[in-house]
Amino acid sequence: MWEIVLWIVIFGGFFVLRAIIATVVFFYILPEGDRCPNCDAVTLRVESRGWNFLMPRFRTSWCYECGWEGLLRRGPLTPQDTDSHSGQFPLISKKSSK
Ligand SMILES: [Zn+2]
Repeated sequence: MWEIVLWIVIFGGFFVLRAIIATVVFFYILPEGDRCPNCDAVTLRVESRGWNFLMPRFRTSWCYECGWEGLLRRGPLTPQDTDSHSGQFPLISKKSSK
């Protein structure tokens, strides 16, 4: 009987520990800000009720350049000035090479 309890405690402990470590690693791996980790374009914030409920500290993002979708850490946002013709954001311009 005690073996089962011990096994559950050890296994459960490992499981919880692994979940905590994975969360911490996941958190530090996630890029900060609003840039796409694939193509470095500015991503759009999308509504994702599940993720926003589970992890309100994260930003569910969607990249309209490459279609990447995922979570980003909240960080400094890239100022949006799509109306200006300064050419500061070549990734936003409609030079599609597809
Ligand atoms: Zn992208």
